[in-house]
Amino acid sequence: MAAPSTITDQRDLFDGVLTRVAFSEHIDASLVPFADDVYAMCFLHLDNLKHYNRVYGITEGDLVLREIIDWVQETAVRGFVARYAGDGFIFVVRREQIEGLADSINVRLPTYGETDGLEAKLGICSCRRPMGAEDCVERARFACDSILDEPGTHQYLFDERLQVIFDKRAYVVDHLDDAIAAGEIQAWAQPIVRLLTGRICEVEVLARWKSDRFGFLYPDEFVPELERQRLIHKLDIEVIRLACKQWDEARRAGTEVPFGINLSRLDFELCDIFAIVCAIADEYDVPHEQMHVEITESASGRHKELVGDGVRRFQEAGFTVYMDDFGTGYSSLTSLISLPFNVVKFDKELLDRVQQDERARVVLSDLITTAKRLGIKTLCEGVEDEDQLLFLKAVGCEKAQGYYFSRPMPHDDVMTSLDARAHDRDLITDYDYLDTIGQINLLDGTSADLHGVEAASFLGQYPIAVLEFRPDGIKLLERNIAYLRLLEKMGFHDLESFVEHTMAGDGRVNARAVHAAELAKETGEPQYFDFIVNDVFCSASIRFIAESEGREAYLNIVTSSENSPLISDRVLLRGMIDGMHRKVFWKDTDRRFLGANDEFLDFFGFEGLGDVLGKTDEDLGWNVTEELSRLDEVLVLTGKTITDMKRICICGGVPHDIVVNKHPLYSVNGAIVGLVGYFKDLGPHVEA
Ligand code: C2E
Ligand code: CA
Ligand code: CA
Repeated sequence: MAAPSTITDQRDLFDGVLTRVAFSEHIDASLVPFADDVYAMCFLHLDNLKHYNRVYGITEGDLVLREIIDWVQETAVRGFVARYAGDGFIFVVRREQIEGLADSINVRLPTYGETDGLEAKLGICSCRRPMGAEDCVERARFACDSILDEPGTHQYLFDERLQVIFDKRAYVVDHLDDAIAAGEIQAWAQPIVRLLTGRICEVEVLARWKSDRFGFLYPDEFVPELERQRLIHKLDIEVIRLACKQWDEARRAGTEVPFGINLSRLDFELCDIFAIVCAIADEYDVPHEQMHVEITESASGRHKELVGDGVRRFQEAGFTVYMDDFGTGYSSLTSLISLPFNVVKFDKELLDRVQQDERARVVLSDLITTAKRLGIKTLCEGVEDEDQLLFLKAVGCEKAQGYYFSRPMPHDDVMTSLDARAHDRDLITDYDYLDTIGQINLLDGTSADLHGVEAASFLGQYPIAVLEFRPDGIKLLERNIAYLRLLEKMGFHDLESFVEHTMAGDGRVNARAVHAAELAKETGEPQYFDFIVNDVFCSASIRFIAESEGREAYLNIVTSSENSPLISDRVLLRGMIDGMHRKVFWKDTDRRFLGANDEFLDFFGFEGLGDVLGKTDEDLGWNVTEELSRLDEVLVLTGKTITDMKRICICGGVPHDIVVNKHPLYSVNGAIVGLVGYFKDLGPHVEA
């Protein structure tokens, strides 16, 4: 065939190509009535033409296009070809020509690159009465859209299978209003479980359609088409109404369960969905905090601003906003930064990869940490087995949803099963308490062990736990593996036996922990306490998290001599200072006291550190060998060390002989920042 060497303008490029209207009129006039199955309507789509144009330039792209048009014109019955939208063409061939038709086009396309080359896809519809040209075109296009991205599949004939789907799509569009009026739309619910308690905390409402003609329809069969036809808001509004109504009925019956609804991004464009949700919630007296909205955020596109604005409005009005399908193509990290989502809902796709794929584990666990650091709660959908559940628990995911717990069910069934298992439900009054605890990040090694891999580096090594102080004792709410291992090192299987043991002893550890906890709650600051149990030295921090009706939750992080590479200098020092049986003190470069150990304070009869803090020996006026001691310290502050020096000090009005050591203290960059001293008491002074 003779392709022109250059194409000067669009008229040349599309020479002989009809408009769609002209095409349909021609076909209807000249080929109608179609003899059944004599002709076939073809819908041709050229994949990757835009990319080809970018790589080789528009002129080259136009040459390819013109060659294909020429070929189609030669092949088509009467040479009729029309354009359909951007990269599509429609034409009619005789039925017997369709075998291998797409391949005949593809051999004419230049090959370039390794993958993603130019590719012709062909949808075909055999023409039959009473279909007109337009009916055939729509079916051919539908057949073309149904060709999946499988290598080697380039054409598809509209068959009975597609006919059913096609009819269903037409049906849902044509019957939506009637279905709503007839009560065919139902709002089912799927429980969501809080992993901290293992109990149901809320449900997600999911649409179902019980149709006359096609029986039971799932969202996949109507939601995408209603979106395409821009009717989705009608469905969503009905589901929201049903959900609120059901919530109201359940509340009257004594069961209050928070619920979530799904919004389409298009809802924000097609109606004032925010105002509508508020109005429906008001009508049924649903408190906003008991209702959440799930939105799939798109990283780009024209809905972006509308959706962002919607998220903010819902949020400000007290609804909880979930970012749905996070981890799929639609969601973006930037939205996580810029929009005030309360909860991120990880898509099943991500979780499904966790079992086989170490990298998926790293990504999911880090995303959960990231979300927590942003103050965003985490939920994972599609949990189907126990391994997945254990993984999510180990990486600190707060909530989960999936067939493992329950499939979606009619709302009444969910309520009945919830009533039967009232103890399986979190109390609404505990939600704030539990939510706050859920924000704590406890990474641990279970997941790695679980899948037979040695403790993965991304998992935390510090023993971390959430403790609950309650009238009947201390309970371990959450703990990571490192925490359990530490208890084991000290010889205990659980926290209860640890507490029992220390209570049976002098009770000092518990007293310190309780005291630190009280202080932590009072000040809002973490408090520290150290202890030694069964030869394991531990330095613990305790921080108040939340409280609810006599229960208080604390974050407890422990470092110990047992996780040795992680012993901080602080832990080491504290251990030495408290354990060396010397009177220890340290001072700044002006020789003012910055600290001292208990033994030092006891020796001099001080109530506490406050008695000496910020003072010099002279201020205290207690030193018989004051001038000597002052000179010692001046020397030390120039870098000298005083070793086992005999001096005298006054203790309780009595001069004592002591043996003193003093060393300078250096900062990390080598500057002297103070001194540390310690001494041993030899008893009341004896004249030499
Ligand atoms: P989604 O929002 O991601 O909802 C979760 C879907 O995953 C539900 O499918 C649920 O049944 C399914 N699922 C839950 N746990 C598991 C599991 O363990 N394994 C597997 N294989 N699947 C699980 P469903 O109900 O078919 O809904 C599909 C999608 O349709 C939803 O995905 C949502 O995007 C959309 N949709 C559902 N109801 C509505 C609605 O009322 N309005 C709008 N706009 N979209 C809705
Ligand atoms: Ca959802
Ligand atoms: Ca999903």
